[in-house]
Amino acid sequence: MAEPVDWRADGIPRSARFDDIYHTETGAPAQARHVFLGGCGLPGAWAGQPQWRILETGFGFGLNFLTTWQAWRADPQRPRLLHFVSIEAFPVSREDLLRAAAGHADLLGLAESLAAQWHGLLPGFHRLCLDEGRVLLTLCIGDVQAMLRAQRFEADSIFLDGFSPQRNPAMWSAETLKAVSRFARRGTRVATWTIARAVCDALAQNGFQVEKAPGLPPKRDCLQSVFEPTWQVRRRGPAPSPAALAGRCAVIGAGLAGGAVAASLARRGWEVEVLEAADRPAAGASGLPVGMLAPHISPDDALLSRLTRAGIRATWQQLEQLLAEGDDWRASGVLERRAAGDDRLPERWTADGPNESWHASPTQLAEAGLSPDAVALWHARGAWVRPSRLIEAWLALPGIRVRARCRAAHIERIDGSVARWGVRDADGALLAEADRIVIAGGIESHALAPEFPLQAVRGQVEWGCMPEDARLPATPLNGNGHLIAGVPAAEGKLWLAGATFDRDSSDVTPRASDTEFNRERLARLHPDAAAKLALAFAHGETHAWAGIRCASGDRRPLVGPLSPDSADGIWLCTALGSRGLSFAVLCAELLAAHWHREPLPLPAKLAQALDARRAWPEKETSQRLASAM
Ligand code: SAM
Repeated sequence: MAEPVDWRADGIPRSARFDDIYHTETGAPAQARHVFLGGCGLPGAWAGQPQWRILETGFGFGLNFLTTWQAWRADPQRPRLLHFVSIEAFPVSREDLLRAAAGHADLLGLAESLAAQWHGLLPGFHRLCLDEGRVLLTLCIGDVQAMLRAQRFEADSIFLDGFSPQRNPAMWSAETLKAVSRFARRGTRVATWTIARAVCDALAQNGFQVEKAPGLPPKRDCLQSVFEPTWQVRRRGPAPSPAALAGRCAVIGAGLAGGAVAASLARRGWEVEVLEAADRPAAGASGLPVGMLAPHISPDDALLSRLTRAGIRATWQQLEQLLAEGDDWRASGVLERRAAGDDRLPERWTADGPNESWHASPTQLAEAGLSPDAVALWHARGAWVRPSRLIEAWLALPGIRVRARCRAAHIERIDGSVARWGVRDADGALLAEADRIVIAGGIESHALAPEFPLQAVRGQVEWGCMPEDARLPATPLNGNGHLIAGVPAAEGKLWLAGATFDRDSSDVTPRASDTEFNRERLARLHPDAAAKLALAFAHGETHAWAGIRCASGDRRPLVGPLSPDSADGIWLCTALGSRGLSFAVLCAELLAAHWHREPLPLPAKLAQALDARRAWPEKETSQRLASAM
């Protein structure tokens, strides 16, 4: 449920929970410009910088964010990437968000873009990707202290906002301000509208030099401060190397993982060379004719459920920005059939959200041609996607060069050279030199990372053109097996059903026994569709496609350095298993966040659950380094 807002007769929004107004009569954008941007020396301070990262407490209606975004847009000297991280325990509704911006014509367009991504705001982190990924808003939904503990990055500016310290003490407590100071680097500026004594004292105790500055009427003063502690500051984790501020990177593998990494790095100014062993991109497991995007749901909202939701949001934004809806992907929603009694949702989820999965309604079941007593969930954020189209769009981004028929066999350190790593093929020929290497070759990553326990999981699907008279369900179906239909292609509308899971097999030759298995499962998933496709199967008019997925021991992706010795050079982004569409973008953004000390797109514990260091072979080393993560 969204936070209710009282709209006063004068148009000023008020919180009943805190018995306070969200902003004064002078208006939030004026306050944002004077107190927050002005107090942090912006926009001047970010001029010419590669990135700028802002931390804010209290997102409210996002007017500080919108004003900052507007200032960034208007500035020819703007940084390439603007990160804005904001913490909010009680998000307002989309309608209230737009209503608050409605009085500010210059912000309304931006507010509409923000509102379009204002959905699914369950507790946790949500990365909103705006202005083609050049403005990244990370909403941390939860109590300020818990969210500060879960986030890690080096902030360039900090906006302290909240209701008045008397009414909203948690926002301004000594503990909160101490936690905020963990984000500061020497020179980080903090701005706020209150000069409450306790706030000034807590900032000073945590290493900030605090000054009073003229406020925006009706307030007389505001507070500006800079992090200049008299002690030496130690931060956990390795410092980013100069190369991490964008250089040359070789990405090995042009599938979903490699494509997503290349795109994330190119957006940050890296020159990326993608080496692909096959004669074209998307030639491995990502070459699946059409794939399904659907979240994992569990009654206890388990780790995998939270990870897939974050992943789907990240992918969804890329699909919207780069592909043609209806042709390359379709925001269809997905129905997931469940066994009777196995359809429990997390207790706090409600019929009005913010969750975006529910029990399927009788109408949804009927429209999909399922019996009214079928047990199913409805995932509003579900889709079918043609993975090769997404990969193609990523690889076409400026700053990326693809080289096919380049099979990397060996990576070596090059001493005394500017580019520190070389990639060679099996004959010893140098394929690429780069500051950093990312191994994203799916199961073929094994050759370059033999110490990682990567498992091959063969998958076979059946597909074909829809018979002219066959009405197959328009909504993709998931469950024990899956069915996607109505995918436009040159040859007509396609359907696809699968997929098998066959451990430790790497033979991609289609198998008749798997075709039979897929067909039997389809008969249970959707008997009517199976009956309509029976003739096509009988007449050999169907095709089989098999690919080899790459999985880790615990079935979660591996994102991180290959070994302690190569932490500043060779990274891994692989083991996406059968969830490449859900995980590729999220993993790529996580890798980029680590390299640049950017805000995490996921709470730290979830990020750790994807960290490759958990799979380092020597337990001791991994434990030693776990403390540095
Ligand atoms: N910065 C906002 C803007 O630009 O529109 C206005 C922020 S409003 C004054 C303060 C916000 O802090 C409210 O939205 C409130 O829900 C949030 N808040 C209050 N206490 C909080 C807490 N303990 N943790 C997280 N958010 C909190």
